[in-house]
Amino acid sequence: MRHPDVIVVGAGSVGVPVAWSLACSGVRTLVLDAGASAGQGANKAAIGGVRATHADPAKIRTGRESLRVFANWEDEHGDDIEWVTGGYAFVAYREQEEITFRKLLQTQQRHGLDIGWLDRDAMLDRVPDLAHESPEGDALRGGTFSPGDGHCSTLLASHALAEAARRAGAEFRFRERVTELFVEGGRVRGVRTDHGSYTAPVVVNAAGGAAAQVAALADDELAVRADLHEAAISEPVAPFLTPLVVDVRPGPGSANVYFYQSKGGQLVFCLTPSPPIWGDDLRETSVFLPQVAKRLVALMPRLRHLRVRRTWRGIYPMTPDGSPLVGWSERAEGLLHAAGMCGQGFMLGPGVGSLVARMVRREATADDAETLAAWAPRRAFVGQEALR
Ligand SMILES: Cc1cc2nc3c(=O)[nH]c(=O)nc-3n(C[C@H](O)[C@H](O)[C@H](O)COP(=O)(O)OP(=O)(O)OC[C@H]3O[C@@H](n4cnc5c(N)ncnc54)[C@H](O)[C@@H]3O)c2cc1C
Repeated sequence: MRHPDVIVVGAGSVGVPVAWSLACSGVRTLVLDAGASAGQGANKAAIGGVRATHADPAKIRTGRESLRVFANWEDEHGDDIEWVTGGYAFVAYREQEEITFRKLLQTQQRHGLDIGWLDRDAMLDRVPDLAHESPEGDALRGGTFSPGDGHCSTLLASHALAEAARRAGAEFRFRERVTELFVEGGRVRGVRTDHGSYTAPVVVNAAGGAAAQVAALADDELAVRADLHEAAISEPVAPFLTPLVVDVRPGPGSANVYFYQSKGGQLVFCLTPSPPIWGDDLRETSVFLPQVAKRLVALMPRLRHLRVRRTWRGIYPMTPDGSPLVGWSERAEGLLHAAGMCGQGFMLGPGVGSLVARMVRREATADDAETLAAWAPRRAFVGQEALR
């Protein structure tokens, strides 16, 4: 395809579902990615948590759409993406987390999410191995539980979505880096890559951590910075944990920790470094594992004998306020940014994909207009999203 209707730059957590949604609605779509296959950027570093449980109504709306896609993928398309509807448990040991979660519950329930407060005993029924008390002497108070959330394999999911996009007519070209955007008379006309040129009236910037550089090719600015995070996977063990557990208490060098047991029995876990580590050095460190292990064992003592198989490092494409940047460029008509997904690009991907397809078809709904106002690339960036 030298002259598609839409060129998508990036075949990651966002670009792949964007291509799938566009192709399914009959839009001739070409996807270009510098990597060797779909999902080789931040996508494969993500641990695969998928929730509609957010603090921002735009994320709740988009997350619900994604959740439906992932949860029903095997039934509707036949591919096993290792989906498990295990729910998300946000645990509280201190009064301040209980107050935050209970406040968020009001917004979440107002938006129709299936989520509630579990007291200590009900939480222990769901997650029996949680420590009853923290090392600081705070007793488990309970937490929120959202049974419909879940997790899956990010690589299996992105490959399944890419295959579905191909079947619907999208074309993917890998090992091809976009090096130039053609802009004439204020309109985007196409792209140049290290292999050739393509023309299209619409170009979607889904370049993840490199989205600011792609925007700069059209003299546009995007507030996205690569923020480094590490994760790990253990040996497989017999099932003992159903929900994905999140502990948002700050610890030495970390802002939170989250983990789940995969369908194959492995514990998959990561934490958010504090202060953030900016940059693009993807080499894993010797700091992460001792740090995260200490937190995990304090939270769930039975994990102390679990052997870790591998650690890795990837990026969160961060924005100043923790919310995505989705919208038409003000510098080049036809250039559409779908970037800055922070720690949630995988779980928001399919919802963002269908939003982008509606934008391209000029069929955005009133709800979409609200989402797009919240996620405008040139907004003021006041405040911080609470569950980023
Ligand atoms: C340790 C860790 C755990 C995480 N856990 C979760 C989680 O549980 N759930 C969740 O939702 N998110 C999670 N995330 C965040 C998630 O990985 C990102 O938000 C998401 O992958 C971003 O998607 P993206 O499509 O914007 O970027 P990517 O998936 O990185 O895709 C961007 C693509 O663009 C391509 N590209 C860039 N520049 C060019 C160019 N010039 N030309 C051609 N191609 C180009 C890249 O090769 C890449 O494939 C986690 C991240 C990390 C690091």
